[in-house]
Amino acid sequence: MPAPDDADARRAIRPVICYPNDTLPPAPMAIYSAARATLRPVDEVIAPPRDACCFRVPAGHFFRIHSVDGPQVGDLNLWNANDLSEKFYSGKTRALHGTHVTTGERLWSAFPHLRPMATITHDTLDWYGIDAFGGSVHDVIGTRCDPYTHALLSHGGQYHHCCHSNLTRALATETGLPLPEAEGYVHDVLNVFMCTGFTRDTGQYFMKASPVRPGDYLEFFAEIDLLGALSACPGGDCSAEHSSDTAACYPLKVEILAPDPAALTGREPPERNVYNRSHGAV
Ligand SMILES: [Zn+2]
Repeated sequence: MPAPDDADARRAIRPVICYPNDTLPPAPMAIYSAARATLRPVDEVIAPPRDACCFRVPAGHFFRIHSVDGPQVGDLNLWNANDLSEKFYSGKTRALHGTHVTTGERLWSAFPHLRPMATITHDTLDWYGIDAFGGSVHDVIGTRCDPYTHALLSHGGQYHHCCHSNLTRALATETGLPLPEAEGYVHDVLNVFMCTGFTRDTGQYFMKASPVRPGDYLEFFAEIDLLGALSACPGGDCSAEHSSDTAACYPLKVEILAPDPAALTGREPPERNVYNRSHGAV
C-alpha cells in the first residue's frame, strides 16, 4: 500500500512504556544482599548435556545455575512445589521487566496467582548489557526448543532431546506423572545464559554465541516453595543451531543454598494476586 501523506508524522510518535513498573512491590534487595553473606550450600544437581534435571528449593533458600565445563545455555521451568498449576509466566515477566532479566528482577507466576516466584539476586553476566546487534542475556522471549517446531521446519524430522522433551522427561521422573500429563505442565522458559534479540530489519528472533564462561552463575531467591527443571539445551552456547546433536554441549550445575534464617527478618512472603476474579459477571 502507498504510505499516507502523514506517514512520517505517525512514525515519529514517541513510544510509551506499556507497563511502567515503578509501582510493583519492590524486592527487598537489602535483605537479600545481607542474607547472601550467610549462604551455605545444601545440595546440588547436574543437568547433563542435552538432558534436564529437576530440583527443589524451599521458600527462603537461594539457588544458583552455574556454567561448569563450557559455554552452555539452560532452559528453566519453575512451578509452585505444592501446586504445579502455578507455573512461571514468561510472557508477563517480559511485559513487566523487558525482554531480558537480571539482578533485582523477578520471575512471575501465571494467572490467577501472578506473584513473584523467584527474585534474581546475582548475575555474573550483568556487565553484558545490550550489544550493538540488540542482543542481551537471559531472555524471556524464546519459548524453548521443541520437537513439534522441529518437525514442522524440517518436514517431519524426529529429534528427542529438545529442551521441551528434556523438561518433560525430567518432570515425569520427578513427579511420577505419566509423560503426556507431565508435558502439559511444561511451559515457556527463562533462557538462562542465552544471548538473543530481534533483528531490526525483519524483526526475527535471533541468537548468538553466549558470553557465558565456566565460573559464571545466575542466582535466585525462592519466594515460594519451588520445583524447578533445567535443560542443558542441545544448542550448547546457541551460536549456530539447536534441535540437533551438532553443537558442543556441556552440563549445567544447580546449587541450592540456605541462608541464616535470622538474616531474612523483615521479609514478607509474596501474597497471591488480589484481583477478586468476578470478571465483571453479575
Ligand atoms: Zn533448547
